[in-house]
Amino acid sequence: MARARNLPALVAHGGAGNAGPGAERTERRRGMMAAIRLGAGILRANGSALEAVVATVAALEDHPLFNAGYGSLLNSEGNVEMDASVMYAEPVVSDSARRGKRPDRTHSHDADYSVSAGAVAVVSRVRNPIILARAVMEHSPHILMAGPGAENFARKVGIRLVRPEEMVTERARERWRARKQQSGILGAEAAARAAIGHGTVGAVAVDLHGAIAAATSTGGVPGKLFGRVGDSALIGAGTFAHAFGAASATGQGEAIILTALCREAVLALADASPTVLAREAIAEMIDATGAEAGLIVIDRRGRIGYAHNAASMQVARYDPVGGVQHLWLEPIATARRP
Ligand code: ASP
Repeated sequence: MARARNLPALVAHGGAGNAGPGAERTERRRGMMAAIRLGAGILRANGSALEAVVATVAALEDHPLFNAGYGSLLNSEGNVEMDASVMYAEPVVSDSARRGKRPDRTHSHDADYSVSAGAVAVVSRVRNPIILARAVMEHSPHILMAGPGAENFARKVGIRLVRPEEMVTERARERWRARKQQSGILGAEAAARAAIGHGTVGAVAVDLHGAIAAATSTGGVPGKLFGRVGDSALIGAGTFAHAFGAASATGQGEAIILTALCREAVLALADASPTVLAREAIAEMIDATGAEAGLIVIDRRGRIGYAHNAASMQVARYDPVGGVQHLWLEPIATARRP
């Protein structure tokens, strides 16, 4: 029987967290739509899933209303420190395919795909951390590089360095000042709880050739300490891609790391559809940690799923049947299971 296919497909998120100022919603929607159209254009033109997720995430990094790249929130010291990661699962062309036979794509174990990944943590001097993460994947023997070493590597591969102040928006500075005041009144811990942020960005895609990619980028969580690294820099936690599909997460990074959220979700694609398992993965994360997070998932057929338990989460999606769409997602029920 022929398998249902929905290739190519792309879904992006603009972070899970508080609802944010109502006045910004129209512009945030516009930013997401512009980014998804860019990625969709790449897929329609037969471009790769990797190109599509990196272009989508880079466009969101450039937008000042998202907490990634330019627009990142500031750490406890008042500086930008960004994390990003990318992962790519590419079908390996078999000998039979090279001889002109169709490659057998019905297997979904690792042997049919080659996977690669790149990530950066606590970088302050690049405009697009996702592009640096991709360079780590493609031009270094490593997967994760951090801080000044990662920035030094950026210069070596021809990525322009900026002054850290150039990454700080007036909006981020104002929010940082407001938070400082609030923590003087409420205490640091209460202020951190009151200020669940939003605006981390991510994308997952499958292209016409069956290649699968995931990318995530963030300025981190409000009130984070100098030097803190979140899930968005960690393969398996904030980003994962594999022969079964791909996932990108957002929300409280420490909980996402503890539950290896994206890897768990992608491996569960062996037994469930993306729609079902995105909800299950978030429900399990709530059971384990009680935290807030969101997840987008795609499977190798291009089927899409998403879920979150925060106040708000924004996604945009593209597939050849539905075209480009934007959604503000309702949270799943947050009651802990017995
Ligand atoms: N997950 C990100 C972090 O912990 C933050 C977010 O998604 O809002 O750094």
